[in-house]
Amino acid sequence: MERRDLTRVYVCPSCQSHTPHTVRAQNGNVYAIVCNQCRMGSLVKGEALRQHHVQWEEELRQILDSLHDWPRQGGGGDGKSPP
Ligand SMILES: [Zn+2]
Repeated sequence: MERRDLTRVYVCPSCQSHTPHTVRAQNGNVYAIVCNQCRMGSLVKGEALRQHHVQWEEELRQILDSLHDWPRQGGGGDGKSPP
């Protein structure tokens, strides 16, 4: 038997939080996932899981991009200040 510890970000139907879920089992296109936060199991279709993960990655990328866009506050002021 092959066991993979896949983790997918999904909105937990139980605790409603956007959190990683561990994929415990797969039956065709249906995945049994366990919320890493409340430990409740749920069944979800593969496409929904994948789509959600892609969306989440997109969101993450946007956040990282916006961080990148932030103007750097270069130098200036007295950097080394004693406590
Ligand atoms: Zn949960």
